[in-house]
Amino acid sequence: MDFDMENRIVSAEFSSSEDNDIEISLRPKSLDEYIGQDKAKENLSIYIEAARRRGEPLDHVLLYGPPGLGKTTLAGIIANEMGVNFRVTSGPAIEKPGDLAALLTNLNEGDVLFIDEIHRLSRAVEEVLYPAMEDNVLDIIIGKGPSARSIRLDLHKFTLVGATTRAGQLSAPLRDRFGVILRLELYTPEQLSSIVNRSAGILDIDIDPEGAFEIASRSRGTPRIANRLLKRARDFAQVVCEGGITKEASSLALDRMEIDALGLDSIDRLILKTMINNYNGGPVGLETIAAAVGEEAVTIEDVYEPYLMQIGFLSRTPRGRTVTPAGYAHLGIPMPGQQRLDV
Ligand code: ADP
Repeated sequence: MDFDMENRIVSAEFSSSEDNDIEISLRPKSLDEYIGQDKAKENLSIYIEAARRRGEPLDHVLLYGPPGLGKTTLAGIIANEMGVNFRVTSGPAIEKPGDLAALLTNLNEGDVLFIDEIHRLSRAVEEVLYPAMEDNVLDIIIGKGPSARSIRLDLHKFTLVGATTRAGQLSAPLRDRFGVILRLELYTPEQLSSIVNRSAGILDIDIDPEGAFEIASRSRGTPRIANRLLKRARDFAQVVCEGGITKEASSLALDRMEIDALGLDSIDRLILKTMINNYNGGPVGLETIAAAVGEEAVTIEDVYEPYLMQIGFLSRTPRGRTVTPAGYAHLGIPMPGQQRLDV
């Protein structure tokens, strides 16, 4: 099956430039405004305060967790709270060591350099990063062959904030150079409700608490999805219900978008159904599932699986993934064992 990530309403990736602009306006600017992630926030606020008191840049920070959970937002907050510039780039955008050298030499004292998808840096680029992170120096090779020589440039002290969907994807030497490693968790419906209400306030959307909760509980634990569903629910509320977002209006909108009561969309259901119908509910390998549903294995692992596991529909075993009894029940399909009992 050919599936376009861009059009997936519950996709946690960016979709259009309009969405992108709105997303930026919805980004909290301070730790106080940042909802949830209490553990990460508490630790971070102590490290920030300590660094500020010493008058030093914050140690390098690695943020990991599924897309759309607020890694970029948190990196921006770190820069804000430290009162320094925020520079944003991503692993795939830094193609050559020279690209990284240009970024690093342009940083001012204490600046935050944010590298999204840091696990996608090439080995050659990573090697430039190590001495920069450790000793604030840049080793540059000048010339080629026997006459090549290396010179050292001093850099301003800076804070690297790296983001990745999985810390395990990072090379060990890179991971070891981060002083602070924080894992972001999926949000609870209550936390997402607060995020939806906050966003509705900023975008001037009329919504009642039940409407917000309905959207929150169908957003797969992900703020980016909650914000996107809020905008679509507003369209339905205006056009179909001719009013603000109530529970009925948001339910109607989500049903029309084929997002079920738990936030699963057609692809989530396809994954579970394929595992059940073709592989007896598992155990089945990730690559096999990916090929059967026409998705990349990494997309399944990063985008779909975390939520399906969080709600207890999928489990990982050493022999592969399996659908749990709760997963069968949600789809209304009897488990093979139960079937035998029934006859
Ligand atoms: P990531 O970098 O992890 O993919 P982002 O930082 O881009 O995620 O967050 C996506 C959107 O979700 C942001 O525009 C922001 O509005 C919202 N968001 C994320 N985390 C929070 C939070 N803790 N509180 C409020 N809004 C949040």
